[in-house]
Amino acid sequence: MQGLIMDYQLNVPAILRRGEQLFGEKEVVTRLPDRSWHRTTYAEFGARARRLGAALRKELGLTDGDRVGTFCWNHYQHLETYIGAPVSGLVTHTLNLRLHPDDLAYIASHAGDRVLIADKVLWPLVEAFRERAGFEHVVAVGAGETPDGALDYEDLLASVSETDVEEREIDERAAAAMCYTSGTTGRPKGVVYSHRAIAVHTLAAAMAGVLDISEKDVVLPVVPMFHANAWGFPFTCTLTGAVQVFPGPHLDPQSLLEAFAQEGVTVTAGVPTIWTGILQALDADPGGWDLSRLRAMVVGGSAAPQSMIEGFERRHGIKVVHAWGMTETCPLGSVSELTSRERALPEAEQYAYRAKQGIPAPYVEIRARGAEGLVPWDGETMGELEVRGVWIASSYHDAPETADRWTDDGWFRTGDIVTIEPNGFIEIQDRAKDLVKSGGEWISTVALENALMGHPAVLEAAVIAVPDEKWSERPLAVVVLREGATATGEELREHLAPRFAKWWLPDRVEFVDEIPKTAVGKFRKTALRERFADAAVESR
Ligand code: AMP
Repeated sequence: MQGLIMDYQLNVPAILRRGEQLFGEKEVVTRLPDRSWHRTTYAEFGARARRLGAALRKELGLTDGDRVGTFCWNHYQHLETYIGAPVSGLVTHTLNLRLHPDDLAYIASHAGDRVLIADKVLWPLVEAFRERAGFEHVVAVGAGETPDGALDYEDLLASVSETDVEEREIDERAAAAMCYTSGTTGRPKGVVYSHRAIAVHTLAAAMAGVLDISEKDVVLPVVPMFHANAWGFPFTCTLTGAVQVFPGPHLDPQSLLEAFAQEGVTVTAGVPTIWTGILQALDADPGGWDLSRLRAMVVGGSAAPQSMIEGFERRHGIKVVHAWGMTETCPLGSVSELTSRERALPEAEQYAYRAKQGIPAPYVEIRARGAEGLVPWDGETMGELEVRGVWIASSYHDAPETADRWTDDGWFRTGDIVTIEPNGFIEIQDRAKDLVKSGGEWISTVALENALMGHPAVLEAAVIAVPDEKWSERPLAVVVLREGATATGEELREHLAPRFAKWWLPDRVEFVDEIPKTAVGKFRKTALRERFADAAVESR
């Protein structure tokens, strides 16, 4: 017997319709490149998003499934493209503006982007790859002169009228958006999100116990819209009617704190390196900003050190929500929101749980596999995390050579080495390629980094494997000290000693001014390995 329920399509148009119809007066606020503020409403954003979609089809000749590349900071025009392209049957493809022009040319042509929508303030970067990428049209966004060979975004919008806008019935299995992984090995790989994946991800992300977003919220995603869909916030806010605040290119701690206070931001999100800077600014000037409305700071993309979670909460009363995800998982995989079980534990243990990556979101299932097969959920046995679910990639775009990233029974191999607690809490121990294998045993660089960053003199710490004749690999710590602080390698080893087996302690500690970062702000361990692998540098 079949259910007798409508075959309602879970798609981006349904997300936009709700935002427009129920929350037309809610605001979308952007900090422009000249630092002034731009304010618009959901009603206006919806109308412009639809006009953009109509113009891309009518004026530029795009048809169903065609890709629209974006090369933009977080702002209202980027949101219009995000939603306007899929609503008109096109596919938004966000390009990461911190990548090398060679990678951008490869990614845009591999994705088949027909149009590029790019910020005028990023033009020198656009010129470095636009020819090679082969776009048919380039559209320039923002104030100022329109560069040669480009159409102006506002002119494109003005070229169509309301009557050109058509409401399309879009199959929920059709592509809505694309994003390439920022992988440090091999060619970047394209993930293609369906409307259905985005729609269900949006619903789950809004749930209490996940990211808990509702109409009451004012959300400022620091995470770029080109980093795994800005973790879904543009869609989640549009569905729930939350106010959206975009920081534009102004991502320094002062500008962000100013924006949080001025706009009464309730939820923000970004990678740990952003929050390291914010925490330093708050520690230096604790009463400097009124953050009384800020109730959650979502941290993901790399492990959030426990010291950071505790620092924000104990010293500034701001809750940090630690989440794990990947470009391949839309991106939400798990969130470390404590259940009543963990809340019954002593405070120190609760914080230890908060620093883990949490339990999977609804419709995401997890398991971990070691050399001997699936590992038990005992909080000790390490294995590679495998996931499946409604919004998990089933293959990469046009990359048959990557089929082995999926198991024979269709689970995605994440490449993350984890332990899973009996209560389902995941703890990421490492990327498979970053683990240190010493004397046949695995050492978690994430755990060492987390503990090192708990030392008062340490601002940032990355641990890498270096070749060793006797043990095959040993851990080496690369440390950035806080301004004016001092510490020796020996002191840091003493700080680690009570928490780890002796053989886990890094043999060498190197002090540097800065740890190189990837295009999405994570530690670039490949660069550190190249720099320190065989250099017999004196350690302190
Ligand atoms: P990306 O696709 O660039 O977002 O990278 C995904 C990878 O980032 C994951 O496979 C993890 O290795 C890492 N990652 C994301 N979130 C976390 C987290 N909360 N803790 C530790 N690693 C994380």
